[in-house]
Amino acid sequence: MKKVAISACLLGERCRYDGTDNRDPKLLGKLEGCELVPFCPEDHCFGTPRPTMDLVETEQGVKALSNLSGADLSPCVERYAREFFDKHPDIDLFIGKDRSPSCGVCSARLYDREKSLLSREAAGLMAAEAARRGIECWDAESFLDAHPAPPILGS
Ligand code: SF4
Repeated sequence: MKKVAISACLLGERCRYDGTDNRDPKLLGKLEGCELVPFCPEDHCFGTPRPTMDLVETEQGVKALSNLSGADLSPCVERYAREFFDKHPDIDLFIGKDRSPSCGVCSARLYDREKSLLSREAAGLMAAEAARRGIECWDAESFLDAHPAPPILGS
């Protein structure tokens, strides 16, 4: 059985910044038979609801900065990601919520210090950790596009 790490909001957990979810019944149908291991670094670190954050290219590399205070929120998210994958070393697949600065695989927006858009194809902090560990990573929307038939992935 495939073990799939997946953004908790895609499963219906109301852990988005505004207390809503991104439940995706089509995606859940595709993953029937898989073992789903949900994660939400931002709820863990900052609670829900919470201010939003953006990825910013800084002198120290890509950081997640609070849109409220400008504080660097990266350390907690990165620590959560490391601990999650240490705890689950046998993850086969990572599916992240598109465009999230934590979970987006190659769909997050990256800005410079002046808030000019540098890229729409950046990796969120948790997705970047998954990729570093060699895990197959997908944005949820791309995963659905690439798997149009109803395969049973769990076997
Ligand atoms: S996209 Fe990621 S960080 Fe944001 S609510 Fe969903 S699981 Fe949490």
